Amino acid sequence: MLLTITTTHQPATDLGFLLHKHPERVFAFDLPVGVAHVFYPEAAPERCTVALLVEVDPVALSRGRRGGSSTAPLEPYVNDRPYAASSFLSSALREAFGTAMTGRSRERQELAATPLPFEVQLPALPARGGTDLVARLFGPLGYAVSAVPRLLDDAFPEWGDSPYAAVTLTGTMRLRDLLAHLYVLIPVLDDAKHYYVDEAEIDKLLRHGDGWLEVHPERDLITRRYLKHRRALQRAADAHFADEDDAPALPVGASLNEQRLEAVREELLRSGAASVLDLGCGEGNLLRRLIPERQVTRLLGLDVSPRVLARAREHLRLDELPETIRARVTLTQGSLTYRDARLRGYDAAALVEVIEHLDEPRLWTLERVVFGDARPGTVVVTTPNEEYNATWTRLPAGETRHADHRFEWTRDEFQAWATRVAEEFGYAVTFRDVGPVDPQLGPPTQMAVFRRGTA
Ligand code: SAH
Repeated sequence: MLLTITTTHQPATDLGFLLHKHPERVFAFDLPVGVAHVFYPEAAPERCTVALLVEVDPVALSRGRRGGSSTAPLEPYVNDRPYAASSFLSSALREAFGTAMTGRSRERQELAATPLPFEVQLPALPARGGTDLVARLFGPLGYAVSAVPRLLDDAFPEWGDSPYAAVTLTGTMRLRDLLAHLYVLIPVLDDAKHYYVDEAEIDKLLRHGDGWLEVHPERDLITRRYLKHRRALQRAADAHFADEDDAPALPVGASLNEQRLEAVREELLRSGAASVLDLGCGEGNLLRRLIPERQVTRLLGLDVSPRVLARAREHLRLDELPETIRARVTLTQGSLTYRDARLRGYDAAALVEVIEHLDEPRLWTLERVVFGDARPGTVVVTTPNEEYNATWTRLPAGETRHADHRFEWTRDEFQAWATRVAEEFGYAVTFRDVGPVDPQLGPPTQMAVFRRGTA
């Protein structure tokens, strides 16, 4: 069984530091049921892929069986275990990438704490309950999901689909979150009963589910399947969640990226907007959250980069959406530094982590285009809070979080800018913190919400 994780964060070979596995080497780990190998099929500065290959020994597996109740006499020897991603893959993940799962990196701590672009491939993921379950499980966590059912036998298409899907997950998250999602959800999708579970499993589930499982719409299904349908264990896990349910909806564990997009979505919906611009939409992470909203009937994503837009189109799977939904969404190339009549007449606009990509002396061109010409009723702007960088001990003083950030502002700088823009263009502005707030340094992300005056 095989799992690959690719990043295009640059330099992509930093993945080796995050996983504590050098890209030029090959690693092998003994597992109770076989051997796991870690290697890098590609390792270039632009793109780096790590592969985890688990070779299960069916004979060792059959000897190690506990509490198995097979109906077919040969089942212990002839089964899908060697090929299909399953709980063994989860054990291998922990064995191979245990340190990365805790979020620690000796050499690149700030990167380990930063959401990065990842693509995960699982060529044979058992998706019991249907391929759409893959999207129901990974979608709410911020992934674009592609799950293509595999035929039972290519030579006999009339036999229909097998329970396996070729799955691709794309998203921007911290590596530790990605690994935790895979660790819990792969065995949930498999829903097999080839190992015995006890109370220790509740612990594992709560530990690796921390920060996302509590608020997952499929939490009950995940808990039920992970705990192998054992009622007593589920009740114990539910009791834990009941205590947590009055806690804030998005715990600190959710990635900063998620919290930011969630906060922006919330502000846009609260404004009552039916038509929304996502300016500098990138790969479409905000659009993906807005498409399902009934309130929003018209969406336009604009970005200067055709390459990024192509990825957005792919991630959103626009071409596969029903015509009624597709008709509401437009992706288009354009620059926020040039007046653009297509941007006029919208209720609201989002600029999520975009302004810092423009040269500061040229920022006035964006102000004029967005606030002066397009003039949406509401504008939501987010940008890093430079002060917060001090909490990332590995980020040298004076460096920005990403190489392509032209500037990062303190809270005072951002508020002075926003207040001046509001005055100049006839808007009122309020501010909101996003992410865990440090008492001295403030939040990692700062947000301004502009509302156009009636005058
Ligand atoms: N809003 C997205 C992407 C943020 S990254 C998100 O939160 O996920 C910043 C994006 O701004 C990039 O996709 C970049 O291509 C885009 N961008 C930079 N300068 C731009 C400009 N002048 N006009 C339009 N988009 C721009």
